[in-house]
Amino acid sequence: MKSKYKVLKTALTKLGNTIELISPSLFTLHSSLIIGVFHGDEPQGKFLIEEYLKKSAATNLLFIPCLNPDGMQLGQRTNANGVDLNRNFPTKNWGKNLGDNATCDDENTDYYGGKTAASEIETQFLIDTINEFKPKSILTLHSPYKVVNYDGPAKEIAEKISKIINYPVEASIGYPTPGSFGTYAGIERQIPTITLELDETCPVEDLIKPVHEIFDMLCK
Ligand SMILES: [Zn+2]
Repeated sequence: MKSKYKVLKTALTKLGNTIELISPSLFTLHSSLIIGVFHGDEPQGKFLIEEYLKKSAATNLLFIPCLNPDGMQLGQRTNANGVDLNRNFPTKNWGKNLGDNATCDDENTDYYGGKTAASEIETQFLIDTINEFKPKSILTLHSPYKVVNYDGPAKEIAEKISKIINYPVEASIGYPTPGSFGTYAGIERQIPTITLELDETCPVEDLIKPVHEIFDMLCK
């Protein structure tokens, strides 16, 4: 049975899917914002958040279980416009072609940053959410690199997460990511921002325990 939760905000995507911001409780003061399925071909976050919501009603966390439902429906990294949401944020370096995995000016790659910064409904939804609810920290769930990446003042949180899930902490993913969410929220707005790259070879059921322990830690 599903626990009660409130839908705080919604947006309709190009393909007619709904993005939801939800909170499992009646708390009005929120702690962390946790986001699943930034990339449509990394579906683990949605499952892990939904499992958490089934059992945890008393938490002040905010969740976007699936930021990119169109990409998930299409089985692709990008959204329905072929834009990598993690290159579409209005950062100082948006749209700069900085080499491998950062070819965000090329719409034929999986890293296309969009026609303009924040051109996408999904990007705008997340920006509005942050402005409206001012989360103390942010966790995004990705795969497959098995690493705790962080941007902004999040080293301490990253180390706690690393201890729980036993992945190494890295301040940078190792290649340039112009227009990334971590740059937008973490570096340019100084909100502690964690990009947790889950192990895609691990059955998602086995990720429930460590990931839910991380969620519990973040609501303190
Ligand atoms: Zn990803």
